[in-house]
Amino acid sequence: ASNMDEGVKVDGATVLARALKAQGVEYMFGIVGIPVIEVGMAAQAAGIKYIGMRNEQAASYGASIIGYMTGKPAVCLVVSGPGLVHALAGLSNAKENCWPVIVIGGSSEQDQEAMGSFQELPQVEAARPYCKFSARPNSIERIPFYVEKAYRQSIYGRPGACYLDIAGNMVNATVNEKDVWSSIICPPPPKSFADPESVKVAADLLYYAEKPLVIVGKGAAYAHAEAAVQELVIGAQLPFLPTPMGKGVIPDDHDLCVAPARSKALQEADVILLLGARLNWMLHFGMPPRFNPKVKIIQVDICHEEMNNNIKAAAMLVGSLDTVLNQLNEEINRRPGKFAFSKAAPWWKTLKGKIQQNQQSVQKMMSDKSVPLNFYSAYEDIQKLLPKDCIIVSEGSSTMDISRTMIPNSLPRHRLDAGTYGTMGVGLGFAVAAAVWCRDHAPEKRVVCIQGDSAFGFSGMEIETLCRYKLPVIIIIMNNNGIGFGMDDDSWQSLSESTDLTLTSPPTSLMATAHYERMMAAFGGNGYFARTTEEITKCVSAAMSKQQVSIVNVMINPMSMKKPQDFFWLTKSKI
Ligand code: ADP
Ligand code: MG
Repeated sequence: ASNMDEGVKVDGATVLARALKAQGVEYMFGIVGIPVIEVGMAAQAAGIKYIGMRNEQAASYGASIIGYMTGKPAVCLVVSGPGLVHALAGLSNAKENCWPVIVIGGSSEQDQEAMGSFQELPQVEAARPYCKFSARPNSIERIPFYVEKAYRQSIYGRPGACYLDIAGNMVNATVNEKDVWSSIICPPPPKSFADPESVKVAADLLYYAEKPLVIVGKGAAYAHAEAAVQELVIGAQLPFLPTPMGKGVIPDDHDLCVAPARSKALQEADVILLLGARLNWMLHFGMPPRFNPKVKIIQVDICHEEMNNNIKAAAMLVGSLDTVLNQLNEEINRRPGKFAFSKAAPWWKTLKGKIQQNQQSVQKMMSDKSVPLNFYSAYEDIQKLLPKDCIIVSEGSSTMDISRTMIPNSLPRHRLDAGTYGTMGVGLGFAVAAAVWCRDHAPEKRVVCIQGDSAFGFSGMEIETLCRYKLPVIIIIMNNNGIGFGMDDDSWQSLSESTDLTLTSPPTSLMATAHYERMMAAFGGNGYFARTTEEITKCVSAAMSKQQVSIVNVMINPMSMKKPQDFFWLTKSKI
């Protein structure tokens, strides 16, 4: 055959990379190996930034948090078989949190299918339960079609995860460039409005409510709806409660925030405006005894199927959060005079009273500076040193729970935590991704990763990634010697000398007083060890002053936990 009329050749890796770039993909996180090394290289050649991670879990978490922060998917690139299996962690986490991400897995060659080929796994099927779209392109020419479809499905409607499987033989094989499908460039998701009749019902419910409450979820943060949310809440002077990742849509220190009276607010509210949050375990399913059995819920969500989940909604507002809130604001402004509810109402007195009472009990623990410090006391010192615009990554049990109340957020999408799936081990993947995003888009911001010692351990090797790419994250390890809690130093020493630890060490225990900060010496970052208030202040300030990676290892009393709760069932909840 003559080569003359065939024209320019292009390989599969390049077709894939160019298609991703054309859709606007900015970042690819991954671990390469056979058969995807060339995909990583082609991505860089196409202008996609490639971040090489140390395990696929962290890579998949990192890619998905870019999706949450920006509303556009990043890619996670993994090898076949075990590579994809590890990345299912991030796929399922993204699915549960409704975050866009595209995982791309290399896979075995097409003509070796079912033969027992290298790392063979039914990858499209393995990914499918966690995906909105999972597919294997059947030719190099059609790859751009699949890429557009995955990109679109990840961000349209309720956001979520997608998987593309690239057969190993397609990576280096070439086709005629003119035969490659040209792809539709996916526009941003179209905005949708709620049914105007439901908007009227919702406005009336709020207008006549005696004990209204607004719950601000991470869907509101994802939707970048902060302006509309603030207009409504501040305009009508409504008490609001953020979910953990809804923090910062309205600043935590706003006087309408009733987070310190959370239980009371949930239990007694008669009308709840639910903004981009699901009535799942994190909100106790919307049910008694945690909620008023007669509460009327106004549900605002982009997902039709979410309506009436667990509790029948009094008004169903399906649409894009920002446009729906604009509708609601307009409808409310049409009503005369003041709401039935006002800041002079008994409801505010109840809430304010409870806020004061709870603040007093926390104050006691904050001012207890005995060593080893308790969580509240350590956070009181740390919190003062954090810039208002920093991105806080937080995970661990008490470390995360208590940071939610002790570390305020002023800006939306600035708290990244274990999320809907309660996933431990997300922290360093999130930190790498948040830091690379800050480097490119907000270089004045710092990323501070506050983790328990157990949570740090899941992906501790990503400190090499941070140092390699010079991403100046400050990792603060709240070290209580274990999962939830561990043993104090003396008990640990005597136990380990006298017994077989595999029979006697509590399953929650990790090494007592482990010097995680010394790991920094291996990669050229800064390590600090802090036991006292003074040491915390000194070490965190020093870390802040350097544009480098730091670990501050803060020793916490293993017996320090959450403040005593009014109801025993509170202690079971993560929020
Ligand atoms: P939280 O953990 O804060 O309670 P969830 O993850 O449970 O939040 O809920 C977030 C909700 O936001 C999901 O039900 C999702 O469908 C919804 N959502 C996501 N994007 C939008 C959007 N642009 N407009 C409206 N709702 C959205
Ligand atoms: Mg711990």
